[in-house]
Amino acid sequence: MKRWKKVALALLCLLVVAQAPFIYRRYRLGRLAAVVAALNAERAAAPPRDDSHDDYAGVFHVHTSLGGHSTGSFDEVVRGAKSNRLVFVVMTEHPAAFVNTAEATLKGTRDGILFVNGSELVVAGGERLFVIPGFAGDAAAAEAPDLQTLINRAKEEGRLALIAYPEQVRDWRLSGFDGIEVYNLYTNSKEINYGLLAGDVLWSYWSYPDLLFSTFYERPAANLKKWDEVNASGGRRASAIAGNDAHANVGLSLRDQAGEEFLGIKLDPYERSFRVVRNHVLLEKGQTLNAETLLAALRQGHSYISFDIFCDAGGFRFDAESSLEKKIMGDEIALAGRELRLSARVPVRSRIVFFRDGQIVHEEKEALGKELMVEHPGVYRVEVYLERLGSPAGDKPWIISNPIYVR
Ligand SMILES: [Zn+2]
Repeated sequence: MKRWKKVALALLCLLVVAQAPFIYRRYRLGRLAAVVAALNAERAAAPPRDDSHDDYAGVFHVHTSLGGHSTGSFDEVVRGAKSNRLVFVVMTEHPAAFVNTAEATLKGTRDGILFVNGSELVVAGGERLFVIPGFAGDAAAAEAPDLQTLINRAKEEGRLALIAYPEQVRDWRLSGFDGIEVYNLYTNSKEINYGLLAGDVLWSYWSYPDLLFSTFYERPAANLKKWDEVNASGGRRASAIAGNDAHANVGLSLRDQAGEEFLGIKLDPYERSFRVVRNHVLLEKGQTLNAETLLAALRQGHSYISFDIFCDAGGFRFDAESSLEKKIMGDEIALAGRELRLSARVPVRSRIVFFRDGQIVHEEKEALGKELMVEHPGVYRVEVYLERLGSPAGDKPWIISNPIYVR
């Protein structure tokens, strides 16, 4: 064999061998897709349960081209929300120089979906706050000397104030805020290994574009720890929220000389981002969903985070019951010598993990529910894992509840 042929053959062999991990990763995604389909079928077949609350699924932290950094349009947001059958979308536009983006963005009901117009504001040190509804004057952000001043102003005006990107907060001696964005899809996507992603796009994107998320999904351990610390120290109560941080601007686009796109891969269209992670809000039966009831529920922590891409979590509950009262996640309940029982229930069999002040106190495997007698006061919350998903998603949280504050 001629030398160049040997070299060519060796290179070809190398190329084939280099594809092996991606073929295996594609196989893994195929297996994951089958489990996801089975879980959703199992969930759909489960008999509906009697309940005191209704469950509304929606998304939080959405940008359009209005506030820069994004290429998305209102139409695309509405279409993405519709195709995911979302009930609400909380917009969080950045301020812009010449437009009042909080006023100009989507608000009210469009095609049956409730839109609430919030702002994502940056203070001098680079820390960020969601204010909902957004401030009418966008100058508010530029004027804000620090995070606490901005929180105070939001609260004085009866708005929701949530800490965005908590990893950027330098001093946690803050008060008055309503909650923390403990998970952010965009922040998580920064963990993407682009070498692996290139191979995955080649082998898996066309078959499993949504489930590529599972290849980089990480439990937001540091944010959860900070959130637990905030709630465990004294009388503070902060709700958790997940942000889609949807921009519809990450991807690859190849155009010909006339500017016509002939290959376009958008990794974060709204439709996909809205499928990955959602906030489910609980309203008492008989209450109607509108901007006021939605924001009140988010403020009180009557909500939970779920990675619905793996299975629709609607129907998840985390409650507390004593001889005197019955409460749901986000509420406070008195222990004071009474029999107090926490109860979690899930729509499909899964691993239910109970935390108290950030420490695991109980785990129940392959269960549809679990009741836990409480002996000590503390801040209790639940994470749920779908172990059946296997690697790489089975050991990451499917659901993150808001806490029940046992005093
Ligand atoms: Zn944002």
